[in-house]
Amino acid sequence: MEETKKYDKQSIHESRKRDYTMRLSKMHLKTLREVPNEAELASHILLLRGGMIRKLASGIYGYMPLGWRSIRKIENIIREEMDKSGSQEVLMSAIQPAELWQESKRWFVYGPEMWRVKDRHEREFCLGPTHEEIFTDIVRNEISSHRQLPVNLYQIQTKYRDEARPRFGLMRSREFIMKDAYSFDKDEEGLDESYKKMYETYERIFTRCGLTFRAVEADTGAIGGSNSHEFTAISEVGESEITYCNACKMAATTEKAEVADECSEEDVKEIPLEKIYTPNTKTIAEVAQYLDIDEKKTIKALLFVTHNDQGEKSGYAIAFIRGDRELNEVKLINALGIHEHQIEFADEAEIADATGAVGGFTGPIGLVNCTVVIDSELTKLKNLCAGANEKNYHIKNVNYGRDYKGDIIADIKTLKANDPCPKCGAPVKHARGIEVGQVFKLGTKYSDSMGAVYKDENQKDKPIVMGSYGIGVSRTLAAIIEQNHDENGIIWPMPVAPYEVMITVVKVKDDVQMELAEKMYDELVEAGIEVLLDDRDERVGVKFKDADLLGVPIRITVGKGATNKLVEYKLRRDVEKVELHMEEAIEKAKKTVLKER
Ligand code: ATP
Ligand code: MG
Repeated sequence: MEETKKYDKQSIHESRKRDYTMRLSKMHLKTLREVPNEAELASHILLLRGGMIRKLASGIYGYMPLGWRSIRKIENIIREEMDKSGSQEVLMSAIQPAELWQESKRWFVYGPEMWRVKDRHEREFCLGPTHEEIFTDIVRNEISSHRQLPVNLYQIQTKYRDEARPRFGLMRSREFIMKDAYSFDKDEEGLDESYKKMYETYERIFTRCGLTFRAVEADTGAIGGSNSHEFTAISEVGESEITYCNACKMAATTEKAEVADECSEEDVKEIPLEKIYTPNTKTIAEVAQYLDIDEKKTIKALLFVTHNDQGEKSGYAIAFIRGDRELNEVKLINALGIHEHQIEFADEAEIADATGAVGGFTGPIGLVNCTVVIDSELTKLKNLCAGANEKNYHIKNVNYGRDYKGDIIADIKTLKANDPCPKCGAPVKHARGIEVGQVFKLGTKYSDSMGAVYKDENQKDKPIVMGSYGIGVSRTLAAIIEQNHDENGIIWPMPVAPYEVMITVVKVKDDVQMELAEKMYDELVEAGIEVLLDDRDERVGVKFKDADLLGVPIRITVGKGATNKLVEYKLRRDVEKVELHMEEAIEKAKKTVLKER
């Protein structure tokens, strides 16, 4: 009996040691000196150069030991915080039957981004891009009473989206790891509470991941629902653009941010139309210069062709905004009630034949056979200059109401840096960022279409009120690197570092150096610290280069000083290094790891 116990303890100890440590001479690792051709972003370059990920096909990657360790660290932070919030972990299938998506009517909405597959019986499935339908199906089958609510379920799982432009490595890939959570409540107040809890949980998760981020109001896109926030890791290379105001609390994606309309002064009178010859003035800048007027006095036209549910051409849409404004495509498709993949720029010749619009000279007067979308601001401005729908002609003093009308009036313009804040009027700021997470108030969108109801206290059927909450786990890894690197490599924040301490032995053939390094390695491992020992028989320059590239936060170098038990101690993020007695170095490393982990 006694024997077995001892043996168990010993083997647990041994396996723990193995978990926490690694000798680089044994690790499956291949670092690259050259910058891979296809990679532009630091995170992509460094993940490939550091041998952390491997590309299999466009937008499809595998994770190698170091990359996978950091992914697991992120996942564990997410798990801890989600569990703490009361959410329960599950794991659903990545393959989803088409029927559920047809019920929610999203089978088409997702368009070509959805990865569709058929089984041998020609039955249709998709590789899940997200899981609202699957979780709604579970709760409609398993929840019947108000007593079972609220409930929040999450999973960490591989998602598939056949992105139009997979790029930037893990940032926008076609197969990626996502944490998705779904909340189920009795009513809107319950949802508000669940949403707030998730919002705060996300703040803790991204803070622990070492990210500088902002939560901003967001468009709900193909997921749908009423209310949404994106969590954006601030980065110049990010694909998201956010707008915020330092004077008030306004913060939103530029896709979402409202724009305050400008109005003409009340005493401005509408004056008669005037058609003028404006040769070769196809752009707003050209016509404004030719007529010597401000671009703010002009109307800009944007021409689109739209597609129906079956992907066939369904018509034309022409959008008008003030000449100096920028069209916001997301606002436009929301105004048209269609989806991203249902609209594209129109061929000028084709749209001219159909609608009477003339490329470069399109105006809102006299168009036929198209949906005319007017930016709300144009209805408040007087005497503007617009295209005459005739080559080389414009019309001055165009006024909404008197001269033209629109099929749809909506805010379809983009809030630009220094424009007045829609909430308080102060000039707004812009920043770029990486969307690492998004939370949605779905309301009853899915429970209505899929019939997910519960019986309330009076035995009456009520729709379950839902929320959904995503985090891009693999994209978060890329975002962390974007924010934490220099020209030599990654600078991991401690909580997500693949290893916490790296011991580099300058000369592995020197027994004194090797012995001291082994001793330190054992002591640190004993203290539960994750140590990487560079015991490769390599030139020291190569080892230092790799250490910089791999970015382990604490670096201990064992060299000539080993005879006096002296080592060099340095943080990856700092330039300066200090010479310390080995015991001092161990203590310092332990303290730093425990503080920053
Ligand atoms: P994007 O606007 O960047 O395409 P999304 O808004 O479509 O993303 P969501 O449906 O909100 O994405 O998915 C939840 C999270 O999954 C996102 O916040 C993002 O971090 C991550 N994610 C989405 N698409 C990808 C992708 N192609 N590659 C890696 N991560 C992704
Ligand atoms: Mg999103």
